[in-house]
Amino acid sequence: MAHRTTWRPIIFSCPNAGDRIQGLLPDDAAESGANNLHPITCVACDGLHFIDPRTDSMLRAERS
Ligand SMILES: [Zn+2]
Repeated sequence: MAHRTTWRPIIFSCPNAGDRIQGLLPDDAAESGANNLHPITCVACDGLHFIDPRTDSMLRAERS
């Protein structure tokens, strides 16, 4: 139970709204799996964007 997740901010571009969005990624996500995409709810388009924690890049976007 001693595991503690730290969060780091990332900036990505929303493909729907064209705005730059700040989100948070768990700092250990990059080490916990090969295909561990992290969904971030976008405040610009209200959709979900999936971020690859290893590269901080968005893999795909889904409209809500
Ligand atoms: Zn968006």
